[in-house]
Amino acid sequence: MMEDLHDLYQDLILDHNRRPRNKRLVIDADRKAEGYNPLCGDRVTVYVKVDGDRVVDVAFEGSGCAISTASASLMTESVKGKTLTEAKSLFRRFHGLITGEAEESRDGPGLGKLEVFSGVCKFPARVKCATLAWHTVNAALNDERDPVKTE
Ligand code: ZN
Repeated sequence: MMEDLHDLYQDLILDHNRRPRNKRLVIDADRKAEGYNPLCGDRVTVYVKVDGDRVVDVAFEGSGCAISTASASLMTESVKGKTLTEAKSLFRRFHGLITGEAEESRDGPGLGKLEVFSGVCKFPARVKCATLAWHTVNAALNDERDPVKTE
């Protein structure tokens, strides 16, 4: 069990939890979405600035467990600078990794350090923590108005 927990809380996740990147309000955001994971109590608001079809800024605010905070932080780093199409394809690929249904698709950007979350699929209760920020940014990119709920 300790081994598995170590897997789950790898150094990169711990670092992003301690010092989340892009955790700030974006007053002039073009799009914004809110997410809530009632299973764990994680809350996140994602702000996106879009120029043409490119995500020029993405940031988040909220509070939650280490996994949800680190995932939101790494999500902002991964999505920033991508086109809308690339960002959505990254969401699908990340979702596949976490739920253990990874596709072999070679299209679009690779996951890079997001692979650190691959151990999460062994912990079903944590899957929603890891995917919350991604579902939320996906809703923002699709300009959906309804809050995201993982249940
Ligand atoms: Zn959580």
